[in-house]
Formats: sequence, C-alpha cells, structure tokens
Amino acid sequence: TEPLLKVNNLKKYFPIRKGILGKEQGNVKAVDDVSFYVYEGETLGIVGESGCGKSTTGRMIMKLLDPTEGSIEFEGKDLTKLSNAEMRKARREIQMVFQDPFASLNPRHTIGKILEEPLIVHGLGNAKERKKKVLELLEIVGLSSYHANRYPHQFSGGQRQRIGIARALMTNPKLIIADEPVSALDVSIQAQVLNLMQDLQKDLKLTYIFIAHDLGVVRHISDRVGVMYLGKMVELAESEKLYANPLHPYAKGLLSAVPVPDPDFKREHVLLSGDIPSPSNPPKGCTFHTRCPFKMEQCTSIVPTLVEVEEGHSVACHLYDEGYVNDK
Ligand code: SF4
Ligand code: MG
Repeated sequence: TEPLLKVNNLKKYFPIRKGILGKEQGNVKAVDDVSFYVYEGETLGIVGESGCGKSTTGRMIMKLLDPTEGSIEFEGKDLTKLSNAEMRKARREIQMVFQDPFASLNPRHTIGKILEEPLIVHGLGNAKERKKKVLELLEIVGLSSYHANRYPHQFSGGQRQRIGIARALMTNPKLIIADEPVSALDVSIQAQVLNLMQDLQKDLKLTYIFIAHDLGVVRHISDRVGVMYLGKMVELAESEKLYANPLHPYAKGLLSAVPVPDPDFKREHVLLSGDIPSPSNPPKGCTFHTRCPFKMEQCTSIVPTLVEVEEGHSVACHLYDEGYVNDK
C-alpha cells in the first residue's frame, strides 16, 4: 500500500542577515534533505536535541512554513502545489498537538469555545452540530461535558493536554503531528496522555508523527523512529531494531541516556560529549564528527547518506559504508 505521507528531499534554509536591513550572510540549514514515509495507522517517532530540525519538519508538513525545496505528498498529492480548495481539505486532515497546552489555549475562552473554533474556521456544521461535537470530543478524551463552560486555567497540565488533543481531533483528521506533547508534563501524567493517544489511534484510525527530544518517550508509542541531528535524518528504523541495536553513534549516545528495563541486557554505551555545533556553521562532511568517538578520516569531508543496511533499518554513517576502506 501507498504511504499516507511521503516527505521527499525536504529542505528549509533560513537566511542569516547581519543587522535589520543587512544582506544575506549565508543560511541556517534547519532541515537539510530529509526524506521519510509514514503509513496509515502507524506512528513515526522523530527524535533529536533542540535545533535538530524536528519541529521545523512538522511545521512544514502542517503548512505553517514553506519548504525551501522538496515535496510533501499527502494522500498522493503534493501539499506544496495544492489549489486553495484542496489546501483547505488538507488542513482539516492534518492537525497538530503542541508541547505547551497552556500556551496554545486562549485563556479568555471557555473550553467549549476553544474546541468549537476549528469547526468554525473550516465551516463545518451549524451551531447545534458544533456543540454536539464539542461534548462528544470532551468525552472521547476523558473529560466530562460540564467542563465546556470552564476556562483553561481551571485545568491541570494533563487535562489541558487532553483539551489540546480534543481540539486537534475536531475536524476528523487523519494525521496528527504531536510536537513534544508530553514534555511539559509530570512523568505519571505523561503515561496517561500517551495511553490516551494510543487508544485514540486505535479507535479513530489515526496516523501519528510523534516528535520528542529523547528516545525514552517515543519508545512504546512508535512503530518506527527517525533520529535527527543538525537538520539531517541520521538513522531511521523499526522501533525494536533501533532500541535493540542502534547503529549511528549519535543514536547510541541518545540511547545510553535511556534506562534499560532488563538489567541483564547490555547495550554499547556511548557518552555524548561536547555541544551541538551552531547550525549556521555546521561541520563539513558528517555534521556529527565533532562529537563522534568513532570519527575516521573520511568523516570530516564526505557527507554520509541514509542507506538501508538491513531490512527496515537505515543509517547515515561511514562506519557502515560497504567496502569503503578497500575501494578508496
Ligand atoms: Fe561518526 Fe563518521 Fe559515522 Fe559521522 S560518519 S557518525 S563521524 S563514524
Ligand atoms: Mg521544538
């Protein structure tokens, strides 16, 4: 079957200017040639430290940002080339859940009004139908209907994220991009929200892109996981494969920070040292070479590309170049 979403060679470069009216001084490659597919009903986790381009990627799929280059095909149509009518439909079908539920909810509006808004924006239903849908969604996310008349500050963080999820579901979307949806919540509340998202996925046949800054959070919810570093996808694999056998030194480092549930299971431990280089002046060759304990000569000049090294497991690292040393 065809993927629901195909992201092909996506790039987002932001120009750097010196001073307010300065001329362009190069650019920040926030997303630099990223490709991946998402199949209907699955969850793709996208993980990386801040500034790796994961949110920018999500925002381009949401059409909140235009790509510098590349295509985003949703249900076979390139989102970057849609007519206005097609675009309105696509906007209903792709929705986003944000990290900070409080910041994304208008404090002066009742929950009922906040939830109704996407229906009004998309011209869906009359007042009575909209009200019915609001009450239905409150129930679906585990809140009672009387909450519709209350204000965001009257809810806990976990409840507010339930409201954020309800709002994203108002237009019956197919794809939800969740950008660090549980990062601001206590660990016990995180599990509740993740469980809710998993239940909703099954019941409503949703497809998720789940963005997070650590591999622990996305472990149980993701079918596949992509690891990003400085604007590039450095590893992309089925979850079990990635967690059992991370290949990229950066992914190994990220995973070393995640506690292993089985103490007998020994994973190679890689300590991530040093800071992430500035994305306005990334290292040549493999952008991870300044922090990589396995750096080789070719790493400082040749950019590694993402290649499948076993079924369902791709990595961008010269350690896996076939016959590289012999050939050159
Ligand atoms: Fe390390 Fe080289 Fe692999 Fe980059 S390409 S991660 S520097 S071994
Ligand atoms: Mg972010």
